[in-house]
Amino acid sequence: MPKKRNNKSLTDELKPYVVPFRSDGSRSFRLKTHRTDERGGLDKEAATAIIEANRQRLSDLQERLYATDRWAVLLIFQGMDAAGKDSAIDAVFSGVNPQGVDVASFKVPSTLELNHDFLWRASARLPQRGRLGIFNRSYYEECLVVRVHRPVLAKQKLPPPLLTRNIWRERFEDINGFERYLSRNGTLVLKFFLNVSKEEQRQRFLDRLEQPGKRWKFSMDDVAERKLWDKYQAAYQDVIAHTSTDMAPWHVVPADHKWFARVVISSTIVSALEKLDLHFPKIDKAELPEYERVRVALEAEGKRRGKGK
Ligand code: AMP
Ligand code: MG
Repeated sequence: MPKKRNNKSLTDELKPYVVPFRSDGSRSFRLKTHRTDERGGLDKEAATAIIEANRQRLSDLQERLYATDRWAVLLIFQGMDAAGKDSAIDAVFSGVNPQGVDVASFKVPSTLELNHDFLWRASARLPQRGRLGIFNRSYYEECLVVRVHRPVLAKQKLPPPLLTRNIWRERFEDINGFERYLSRNGTLVLKFFLNVSKEEQRQRFLDRLEQPGKRWKFSMDDVAERKLWDKYQAAYQDVIAHTSTDMAPWHVVPADHKWFARVVISSTIVSALEKLDLHFPKIDKAELPEYERVRVALEAEGKRRGKGK
């Protein structure tokens, strides 16, 4: 067990925004029982202060993650259109050094991607040790959009004997196996489902249509998908019920209030990284005289050139 650092109180302080939203992996998970408009007793102002504090903590933790160069962190974001995936990623990670973060957005697969197994394209975008990897959508689409639209499955060129009614159960098993493998190799996996209500989605689509600066975000496809709302909710429910594990838990994030979603997401990431107990690598004492020699030489060089420190 890693030793706890002196900020035990930090993770305790964030617990109310993490623990209630973590799915325990129960097969009887019901999406309907999870509120989309939860505020966790906060108002927008208090939430903004927490988000800002978490941003600074995340920036420090990311530097330690990079310096330690052992763990990789994979953060998966899923949710219906307009659930706020892009803006949450923007808000939560805006204080983090961009050199330590990789973002991958998964769209409709290309012909090349369809010629491979469904985890292939995601494997190619996994974060290296020391880095944060963000998946904006992910291989979970393989049990969501692909399940809701059967013709999409037909395009995947699977050999016919493998196209059985067990395919979704098998994909859950394969994803669990993949995430267990990642976790055993030092990748911390955290998954976020941004749980938005159908009414809030309607409002956000209207905003996109009415505000010229947001119109580019609107796609006619989004309206078609909205008509399949119940099918998507059922698919998400099944995904979360079957793929939330101790090693790679799902967090069902209330997303009607974007500011509360950001509190939950940032608090979850900060708490999980704190638990990794990341320290800057210790300097080998034997090397100290050598460092001192170099330091003195650099100082002397400065003096020779008439410069100060
Ligand atoms: P957006 O995130 O709004 O840019 O849209 C990306 C689109 O790509 C969404 O409609 C996804 O459902 C779709 N998509 C992502 N992954 C897959 C996949 N594996 N198969 C089919 N469609 C996908
Ligand atoms: Mg979209």
